[in-house]
Amino acid sequence: MSGQGQPIFILREGTSRTRGRDAQGNNIAAAKAVAAAVRTTLGPKGMDKMLVDTIGDVVITNDGVTILKEMDIEHPAAKMMVEIAKTQDDEVGDGTTTAVVVGGELLKKAEDLLEQDVHPTVIAQGYRQAAQKAQEILRDIAFDVKPGDIDILTRIAETAMTGKGAEVSKEKLCDLIVKAITMITDEDGTVDTENVKVEKKVGGSIEDSEIIEGMIIDKERVHPGMPKLVKDAKILLLNAAIEFKKTEVDAEISITSPDQLQMFLDEEEKMIKAIVNKVIASGANVVFCQKGIDDIAQHYLAKAGIFAVRRVKKSDMEKLARATGAALVSSIDAISSEELGKAGKIEERKVSGEEMIFVEECLNPKAVSIIIKGGTDHVVDELERAIEDALRVVAVVVEDKKVVAGGGAPEIELSLRLRDYASSVGGRAQLAIEAFASALEIIPRTLAENAGLDPIDMLVELRAAHEQGHKTYGLDVYQAKATDMKAAGVVEPLRVKTQAISSAAEVAVMILRIDDVIAASKMSRPEGMPDDMGGMGGMGGMGGMPGMM
Ligand code: ADP
Ligand code: MG
Repeated sequence: MSGQGQPIFILREGTSRTRGRDAQGNNIAAAKAVAAAVRTTLGPKGMDKMLVDTIGDVVITNDGVTILKEMDIEHPAAKMMVEIAKTQDDEVGDGTTTAVVVGGELLKKAEDLLEQDVHPTVIAQGYRQAAQKAQEILRDIAFDVKPGDIDILTRIAETAMTGKGAEVSKEKLCDLIVKAITMITDEDGTVDTENVKVEKKVGGSIEDSEIIEGMIIDKERVHPGMPKLVKDAKILLLNAAIEFKKTEVDAEISITSPDQLQMFLDEEEKMIKAIVNKVIASGANVVFCQKGIDDIAQHYLAKAGIFAVRRVKKSDMEKLARATGAALVSSIDAISSEELGKAGKIEERKVSGEEMIFVEECLNPKAVSIIIKGGTDHVVDELERAIEDALRVVAVVVEDKKVVAGGGAPEIELSLRLRDYASSVGGRAQLAIEAFASALEIIPRTLAENAGLDPIDMLVELRAAHEQGHKTYGLDVYQAKATDMKAAGVVEPLRVKTQAISSAAEVAVMILRIDDVIAASKMSRPEGMPDDMGGMGGMGGMGGMPGMM
């Protein structure tokens, strides 16, 4: 008879399993640990983190998603928290710390409810309801941005940059960012920040950063005999090699006399000359080639006074096309004057000791470059991250045309209104919605803590202001009081908040609903097996790849 004696094993030996409260407790603790790791970086007075990887490379950053990506996180629930930051980064580019901190706090509040024996599915349901209501409230308190409102766009960029290494030259950088985004905005109002190329150079100071109304290509012209400067450039973008075509099949040419060799070489030269002539005939005086340009071709191009660059990256070619209006030509036969683009000036110049090519004075460029400078590698790297964030948020506002106040103002307002909403819901879900409401206060509280202020005092002051109807009051971390953030110019895109709250809630709900963690034992890899087996991360590759042991 079964049921006595022999236990029944349904899982592979070595599989570990945690269930019920234990599983929940573990997952919540891991998620909270992730939130705690980034919490101190939040806000204008947040601190930075120094991350050192296994080979000793150092990253110094304040950016939530960068910190989490650099940390080698193993725990499956913790990994889910990292996903929040990644989603936030993909969708909006900013607010990554906020999203993770809110996620952690939602789970912390849920833990209290679990202790009071509220069932996880009730909490999950309440959280979902609250998250939905929060979206509604956020849309209600957001205000509209008129198209072309440079002032607001600059404020948006500034808020995204505060607290990053770029503080000192914020004004100048925000100007560059807003200019860049305005230029690349398409007629239909969409913005693709891919069209702003950020080029980093160590040397000089942040103040020397500049915008190029066109492109910067980190390359040199192929031949010193070519002009360094071309005005009224007619640009050919070629995605085909300018060289003697090698035969597709392996062919052997046997040459038996010097005459034959000469003939062969002449033939080769003739062919290349024909290609170069085709370029000249098109009227191009600048060639950006995605493939190679061989020595003989370089010589003839230089002789013709054509500025040529080879092995240009595909992404740069696409941007060049947008900046100059040129078409990407993919075969030699297709070269013609109609495919050319234009730029007022193309020049090779030294930047911090390295030659770079500047494609400038483009008419209505739809791709631009920002060149950033700073004292050290770490400075420019962090600057680049700050600029990328700012570019993204400005682009988001140009697209959505909706912003909210910053400094914890929306979180306080949400918290108050969600409490009202909770009492209208009633039942046990009310408890969960209330927990959600107080979890959001973690943002102003953390802003206060990170600025060395008393979080309780500040929260009381903020709540009072909001109860009196001052919806845009947030924490002025410099003056240590509640102020009108909208008037102070601390604004953020609406999408930063809607996305942060919805992904934080989703992950919290997902983690809460797990009551059983079944983890396969770590496989011992055979000698020489790569570390990352692709897609094997996650839950420890449960049950995957039988026969690999
Ligand atoms: P995240 O990764 O979430 O963007 P940040 O470190 O950039 O984290 O901090 C964002 C928070 O800091 C937001 O809540 C924002 O409103 C707030 N904040 C930014 N600038 C100010 C400011 N000048 N005064 C008060 N709060 C600010
Ligand atoms: Mg930010």
